[in-house]
Amino acid sequence: MSIVPEAERPNPYSAYGAHGSVLVLNSGSSSLKYQLVNPVGGEAIARGTIERIGESSGIVTHRFAGNTTERELEVPDHGAALRIALELFEEVGPRLADAGIYAVGHRVVHGGELFSRPVVIDDDVVTKIHDLVPLAPLHNPANVQGIEVARDLLPDVPHVAVFDTAFFQSLPEHAYTYAIDREVARAHGVRRYGFHGTSHQYVVGKVARVLGRRVQDLNMIVLHLGNGASASAVRGGVPVDTSMGLTPLEGLVMGTRSGDIDPAVVFHLARNAGMDVDELDTLLNKRSGLKGLAGENDMRELRRLIDAGDDDARLAFDVYIHRLKKYIGAYHAVLGRVDVVAFTAGVGENSAEVRAAVCDGLESLGIDVDETRNAVRGDEPRIISPDWTSTLVMVVPTMEELAIARQCVEAVEGLRPASGITAG
Ligand code: ADP
Repeated sequence: MSIVPEAERPNPYSAYGAHGSVLVLNSGSSSLKYQLVNPVGGEAIARGTIERIGESSGIVTHRFAGNTTERELEVPDHGAALRIALELFEEVGPRLADAGIYAVGHRVVHGGELFSRPVVIDDDVVTKIHDLVPLAPLHNPANVQGIEVARDLLPDVPHVAVFDTAFFQSLPEHAYTYAIDREVARAHGVRRYGFHGTSHQYVVGKVARVLGRRVQDLNMIVLHLGNGASASAVRGGVPVDTSMGLTPLEGLVMGTRSGDIDPAVVFHLARNAGMDVDELDTLLNKRSGLKGLAGENDMRELRRLIDAGDDDARLAFDVYIHRLKKYIGAYHAVLGRVDVVAFTAGVGENSAEVRAAVCDGLESLGIDVDETRNAVRGDEPRIISPDWTSTLVMVVPTMEELAIARQCVEAVEGLRPASGITAG
């Protein structure tokens, strides 16, 4: 298998017609990220971030046409943040009236069992996302707030919710079920949901497109390695397992999250260290992972520490890689045949060293990395395995905002892509 040149790839999205652009909003607990996207061509027309919402001084960055506008000003809440963003579009450009906004797409972290695909937002949808707050107390409240403010300020266009969990709603029951008392689990929605679904789905579609293959014919392991990190096993475009669970805490070692641990660690610390639920939540979500082990969650900084001889940083790196190898082995067993291992997100796209370390010693699984190919940098999907392997190892830059924009068009138009998957 080899990469089909861009010019020879059909664009399945040309059928969307000239719909204009989609404003994609990603509301975090103290930040708002936005991007104005052309869902057909795929380019980001403008983008921005507003950070430190609710603090005494917020940081605003808006990028358009090669220019970056930066401001420091007080941003009391998400309403103020969105107002600032809309003003910047008017002041710096592009004017939204000229860009012809077709829809607003909202990234929503938790869709529970209620949402297995993107939906056009009405009051009922907002209520349901709000009802899911107990499952995602760190994320869904900001998402609801972002939706309410945006519907208020942009009332004339459809708003669409795109859920991080939706792709994984088709996991088989044996993969999403935790082996705990069924009644307790049912009563409280305790099961594996999976996250980063938009990214995993995008990468799966993109791989098929760049290889000129049908997604139905490919088995893949996708490794989304950003600050948060997750792995998925995908058979013929349908996920059969993923590493994140009830929340995004389970699975791989992440920037600040522990990933898999023995749940009894929690009881042990509650009983012996006197930690309460909130302290344990903070410990495992914010004071663990690479940061917990080495005091540093950025892979580039971790590398510098390792080069300077820091033993904690070395151990953190080794724990991170060991966990990834275990997931690849497990997902290999689940899939039986693996056609592609795809690395994506900040670490996956940029760290040749992580990719090489993860694949080192996996030759017996048909997985290997070619040093020269792995060293190539760039924004395009690429193959980094040598020619002899049965499994392609690839680097596939993720574009979550574009995937959200395309899912918006599908939701508004009532389209279902022929393959049942939003291709890249
Ligand atoms: P998120 O969206 O989860 O915040 P990203 O996908 O943007 O995360 O990834 C962020 C991480 O990517 C950073 O913490 C950093 O460790 C890593 N990263 C970015 N660039 C590089 C690089 N050149 N080499 C190694 N790691 C990198």
